[in-house]
Amino acid sequence: MIITVSSNITNQEVKEMIKYFKQKNVNLSETLLGEKKAFVLTGDTYKLDEQSVLCLPKVLSCIRLTKTYKLASLETKKEKTIVNVNSQIAIGDKKIIFIAGPCSIVSYEDAKKIAAALNNLKIPVMRGGAFKPRTSPYFFQGLEEEGLKILSQIRNEFNIPIVSEITKISDLDKFANVDIIQVGARNMKNYELLKALGKQNKPVLLKRGPDATIDELLLSSEYILSNGNPNVILCERGIRSFDKSTRYVLDLSSVPLLKKQTHLPVIVDPSHALGDFALIEAMTLAAVACGADGIMLEVLEDPEKALSDGKQSLKITKLASLLEKAQKVASAIGREI
Ligand code: PEP
Ligand code: MN
Repeated sequence: MIITVSSNITNQEVKEMIKYFKQKNVNLSETLLGEKKAFVLTGDTYKLDEQSVLCLPKVLSCIRLTKTYKLASLETKKEKTIVNVNSQIAIGDKKIIFIAGPCSIVSYEDAKKIAAALNNLKIPVMRGGAFKPRTSPYFFQGLEEEGLKILSQIRNEFNIPIVSEITKISDLDKFANVDIIQVGARNMKNYELLKALGKQNKPVLLKRGPDATIDELLLSSEYILSNGNPNVILCERGIRSFDKSTRYVLDLSSVPLLKKQTHLPVIVDPSHALGDFALIEAMTLAAVACGADGIMLEVLEDPEKALSDGKQSLKITKLASLLEKAQKVASAIGREI
């Protein structure tokens, strides 16, 4: 970080400023920027809040040169993070992990049919919402605990790891049989929830909020990492734009961009971004091509009967040919499904 200061700053004020930063483990070295008196700040500058720095006496401007997230940064940890799920699967390694399942769990019978189909297709992880944060309070809110019980049964019967979304801290102990805890787009900035998930060690699938910048997503991951949980998977799920032709805009550039900045695995959820099953195959292939470590898809036996997100859910019968094509794309970039 560089700060410029007024030329009439007194020696006493400089001394006090040095003391202030020292307490924050930040060192100052004086320099000149043209005519301007300036200081280069080194050390734990990621802990500095620009707004507070600008309030210090005689500070005129403040320019950040490094990112405010530290633990998520590739500069801090050069090797890729591989998130192991129950020592069964590894997310962030050579293999691209497919996660599929219904938007929300509606019955044991339906969930079982989907799990059986995933098993046949060798899809290694199943998703299913039990607590559903919906835009309208009148829409189906999920089976809640009953949904988690069904998922737990499916997990035991099929030996398949489960992803499900948490919406509040007080539910955490209900997620004992969930293998990957999802933080939905709406909760990406629920910092208290993120802190609580940082204090346990199950993998967390952190979705990008539709209005969140890449830096904000990484800072949200920092909340989990800095509380002690290194098992974070980032998920691009579309951002809001002026064009309503698709539900959101699938920002695939975020995948290579995130990979330039972080060691964390990045997966893509084309379903929520596109909102239309007809676009899923093409964008899944594109997501594989641009380097995603995993793909999360909403799939159903019978999308017409869905209680949530039916329009974007792919029929299970379409999955086999999608996987075959995805395998070809993956091979072309030296990866596998
Ligand atoms: C979901 O995955 O079911 C979901 C609600 O997604 P998002 O948080 O991305 O809207
Ligand atoms: Mn959904």
